[in-house]
Amino acid sequence: MTEFAFTLLGQDGAARRGRITTAHGTAQTPAFMAVGTAGTVKAMTADQVRATGSEIVLGNTYHLMLRPGADRVAALGGLHRMMDWPGIILTDSGGFQVMSLAKLRKLDEIGVTFRSHIDGSAHHLTPESSTAIQHKLDATITMAFDECTPFPATPDEAAASMRLSMRWAARSRAAFTPRPGYAQFGIVQGGIYPDLRAESAAALTALGFEGYAIGGLAVGEGQPAMFETLDATTPLLPATSPRYLMGVGTPDDLLGAIERGVDMFDCVMPTRAGRTGRAYTARGVFNLRNARFGDDATPLDPACTCTLCTRHSAAYLHHLFRCEEMLGPMLLTGHNLTYYQALMHGARTAIEQHRFAAYAAAARDGWRQTHD
Ligand SMILES: [Zn+2]
Repeated sequence: MTEFAFTLLGQDGAARRGRITTAHGTAQTPAFMAVGTAGTVKAMTADQVRATGSEIVLGNTYHLMLRPGADRVAALGGLHRMMDWPGIILTDSGGFQVMSLAKLRKLDEIGVTFRSHIDGSAHHLTPESSTAIQHKLDATITMAFDECTPFPATPDEAAASMRLSMRWAARSRAAFTPRPGYAQFGIVQGGIYPDLRAESAAALTALGFEGYAIGGLAVGEGQPAMFETLDATTPLLPATSPRYLMGVGTPDDLLGAIERGVDMFDCVMPTRAGRTGRAYTARGVFNLRNARFGDDATPLDPACTCTLCTRHSAAYLHHLFRCEEMLGPMLLTGHNLTYYQALMHGARTAIEQHRFAAYAAAARDGWRQTHD
């Protein structure tokens, strides 16, 4: 039986090069995880997701518990079998989506009661039920149930929210069934206040999770405050466990967080942008609907290895988006994910060769060429 493990393969300053070993295979870190909200990375087949270099896919507990339902996913062989992704799957706890999507939600010490945003049906999520649902989905990595502290929050509000999340983390840990090769991550909260982040990190490490996430960032605090919070938080987390910055971010955010010792990321940006005509490239972000691409016979990104860049012109993609053809979002989602994964691959190699700072500087110089 494979045990869950995080192996540190190299370090350059605070930046870490590692490998995660699980019951569903391995992943190289720093890793970007593609978001597969409802059991699908939107507009992509599982083979296409694999071809971008993605090794971990994210599933959303809130969406999957409502449709098709955790019991139905379990009856279909679990999320891996259902979506044809035998690799690593991380599921969130549902807490974040309940607060952002559900109607008539009510939060107390026990958990959250809410009505579905789809049909108004009543549901209850607690640390125990969220952990049980993630078990039914067969998530390789289960997340502790927490409250994402809103921004802005006063020190008192952030402290009360964080302490509730820490009590929920203890209950999530008690509800988790350890299995070889599976893991559960705790989530550090505390807003932008270093003393609260320290209190939260101490509470979680005392519980002893297999990995640690940093939550409640990229919610409006801005990049400088996010980086300051990471500077104060990552040194407090065990060097022997993976660190996951939730919901982040732009390519520049990823490089800045890697520089500060983060190993794992997820974000809807590359996939969501791929559906709206926004392209992430080595030369910055472009809107493919812009008329100047109408006659552009060159590839979107000559350095990219994706289907779009190796087989089609920027003008063709512009045409597909102008006509609202579904191939446009399919090709551009594939490109954006390929770009994010190539950025991560480059970061991993640069850390191994102790030249991460130069790699990040060169990437940032490239993005400044944008003029759109
Ligand atoms: Zn491409």
